[in-house]
Amino acid sequence: MTNVNFDMESLLDMVLEFGRMNLKTMQLLNDGHVEVLGQPAPIEITEGIQPGPGILVTGHDLVDLKNLLEQTAGKGINVYTHGEMMPGHMYPELQKHPHFVGHYGGAWQKQRREFESFGGPIVGTTNCVLIPDNHNTYGDRLFTMRQVAVPGSPCIKNDDFSSVIAKALEIGDLTPTETKKSMTGFHYSVVLSLADQIVEAVKTGDIKHFFLVGGCDGAEPGRNYFSDFAHGAPQDSVVMTLGCGKFRIRDFDYGSTVGGIPRFLDLGQCNDAYGAIQIALALSEAFECGVNDLPLTLNISWFEQKAVAVLLTLLHLNVKNIKLGPNLPAFVTPNVLKILVDTFGLQPIGVDGKADVEMAMA
Ligand code: SF4
Repeated sequence: MTNVNFDMESLLDMVLEFGRMNLKTMQLLNDGHVEVLGQPAPIEITEGIQPGPGILVTGHDLVDLKNLLEQTAGKGINVYTHGEMMPGHMYPELQKHPHFVGHYGGAWQKQRREFESFGGPIVGTTNCVLIPDNHNTYGDRLFTMRQVAVPGSPCIKNDDFSSVIAKALEIGDLTPTETKKSMTGFHYSVVLSLADQIVEAVKTGDIKHFFLVGGCDGAEPGRNYFSDFAHGAPQDSVVMTLGCGKFRIRDFDYGSTVGGIPRFLDLGQCNDAYGAIQIALALSEAFECGVNDLPLTLNISWFEQKAVAVLLTLLHLNVKNIKLGPNLPAFVTPNVLKILVDTFGLQPIGVDGKADVEMAMA
């Protein structure tokens, strides 16, 4: 294949086909989650470390979390989600375990500090696990799963968590932290169950705009744009989020509801972008217009390949005027950018989130 002279058009067709396949993959993952873990529902969760031994689960693999919860049942060990595992609380087959007590920690770039202070064993189920540095002491209590190997840390090659359980019991009680309550679990099916209410609220003008602000978080400067943007969204708009980008914008008082639905909706993991697409398609059907004609602004933070895959899916669906940042991916060379701008109106994020919200509303 490498000695074929591709023109830009056939390369674009190829990446859009990739976007189509990613849509199918996200759908299969979503359907598999619902089939195995039950119909999601919004839930109030406790954030912080509680008394007793505990295990922290990070990454994205909800089946690993299910297996761990089953194997720790009745052992006096609390199980917590970390980062992108947080939406796991919305599934009844996970939530039914009384020792699935809550959540601890934020986006991936804070792992070293949070894993250090957690004190108990950590299970890294998928990508976005950092390699501990020389100052970290948690290497021997960081367990990774299968391909997610971290040098110097134990790696579990099957579904047997007995080594993690033994470590949690050996370490014993963790040091509790302050706790707080928060909401998660606005899976797209939950949002679509409110479709009539949403359509009515848009028609009456109670809801004027929808913003999707989320994706992959990162540590580079410029990402405060996303919090400025989300926090600046007016009260008559709905802010939806997903991925670990949510942790940058969620600790904010958005007010409770608009048009009868929550103003701030956490749709789930980055792969739940599938759900955001379903919401957009349902709204466009209800209003008999294209997705690009909806009062909807997509503001996507990107860091790694999953966010790029979601972007290609959105382009495959011909979604236009997406804002991407804080920087454009390296493959977006000037000639590629020209095609994406000309064809899809793709734009890099601005520098002033609040000003961009005002522009979107205008
Ligand atoms: S949203 Fe992206 S950066 Fe964040 S944990 Fe998931 S894959 Fe990693």
